[in-house]
Amino acid sequence: VRDLVRHFPIRAGVLRRTVGVLKAVDGVSLDLRKGETLGIVGESGCGKSTLARLLTAHDRPTSGEVTVLGRSMHELRGGELRRARRHVQLIFQDPYTSLDPRMTVADTVREPYDVNPDLAPRGDRGRMVRELLDAVGLNPDHGDRYPHQLSGGQRQRVGIARALALRPEVLVCDEPVSALDVSVQAQIVNLLERLRETFSLAYVFIAHDLSVVRHLADRVAVMYLGKVVEIGTEAEVYESAAHPYTEALLSAAPVPDPALRGTRQEIVLEGEPPSPVDPPAGCSFHPRCRKAVAGCSASAPGLDPVGGGGHLVACHLADRS
Ligand code: SF4
Ligand code: MG
Repeated sequence: VRDLVRHFPIRAGVLRRTVGVLKAVDGVSLDLRKGETLGIVGESGCGKSTLARLLTAHDRPTSGEVTVLGRSMHELRGGELRRARRHVQLIFQDPYTSLDPRMTVADTVREPYDVNPDLAPRGDRGRMVRELLDAVGLNPDHGDRYPHQLSGGQRQRVGIARALALRPEVLVCDEPVSALDVSVQAQIVNLLERLRETFSLAYVFIAHDLSVVRHLADRVAVMYLGKVVEIGTEAEVYESAAHPYTEALLSAAPVPDPALRGTRQEIVLEGEPPSPVDPPAGCSFHPRCRKAVAGCSASAPGLDPVGGGGHLVACHLADRS
């Protein structure tokens, strides 16, 4: 992902005149390696879902590009685009709205084969659908049911099976468990972990829950107002966070180990994130940053290395030594 930008014009009045620009994704560069899980965290409205739609070619960027296996997705059209899109599948937050209520589970999982007939000979599709249902922990009886006859967790399993039918390299999971009961969340996370091995998948795992991301991710990117403000390995981000926003997110996350509760000072983040329509000048985090200095509102910090490896942070005060 190189310099990815998605701006939405905001129109108002009867003349629908453009009155502003919503900078949903504002210059994001990332790499995803084969078999890797990249977590993306940030508050709602930071551009995570827009990024997910751009990564899966459900939306086109204003500028910048997404390259998959050496091919730029946004230069492809028609059949070429459809074939390239198979590699990167989107798992939605709410599996209910993404499933057709009039289609049975088996038909839903089979549909990708009807759209992409070269994926499997007609005679093999029934067996392949049963194997996919089995892989996501559904039994053959579920194949005859409709979405309203399933629990939320079962619906999410159907959405995953349908995505796997296309034999993707990458699943982009946009808050895949946040609409589910807490008791079901761990089951789906464990399922995704198992499928990563079985199907040799790489994941982009988007969440606002930092503990889920920590469990799954090899690397983590933290987003704020359309930009990545910190990226590094799971250990670099969780144990040596270098951006004041990451520090605040981590300090606000629930501590799973009761012995550690109360040992940590919570950093209170003042207010809601500012609007991405008219983000603050300079470092866009400065109105909420407890470390801000005079220069922070004057110029935007670059996403530059701290330490020796791939740990990058966008903060003027980061120790670059
Ligand atoms: Fe805070 Fe300044 Fe760093 Fe931005 S650049 S995160 S305002 S210290
Ligand atoms: Mg979202």
